[in-house]
Amino acid sequence: MSDWERSSTARVIAPARPRKLAKVPFVELADGRLQGVVSSGSDIGRVYVSSVAAGTYTFACSTNNNRPCGGARGSFCNHIRALISEAVLQYGAERVARYLRVEPSDGEPSAQTITDGMSAARPPQGDTKAAAPVFSRFLRHLAYLELTPTTAPLPEMQWFPPTRAVA
Ligand SMILES: [Zn+2]
Repeated sequence: MSDWERSSTARVIAPARPRKLAKVPFVELADGRLQGVVSSGSDIGRVYVSSVAAGTYTFACSTNNNRPCGGARGSFCNHIRALISEAVLQYGAERVARYLRVEPSDGEPSAQTITDGMSAARPPQGDTKAAAPVFSRFLRHLAYLELTPTTAPLPEMQWFPPTRAVA
């Protein structure tokens, strides 16, 4: 991990691309994982907490009530795929690939090649212990949104430095 990833005073920038907050309201690269909260495709009141670990690609997905995701059996479910796509919009594909330690097979990383690269490694399914802390951070994030009556970009989602050229 480089100094700027440890630093709590990283520079503020806008997301690489605008994100669809409704589908994936919370995404972060933290605790050695890509993790976040993904809305259920069918039930507007239900959300999933999904994660993929850097390096091993160990994945987990469960509802906020800790029910296992029916789609995450043996391979990435649609929530995890959506999470990867949103992470690429938020952080840029290179940063996501670097954080997860994925070597996309054909040059330029993208959400598709990152997903394919990890799937090809036949990642193991992990437990959902991380779901509760991720979900509580999401709730704090929501509280923050409700306290902020503005459509301006959210500083808390932008505490990430610009993508740096790979040495
Ligand atoms: Zn899922």
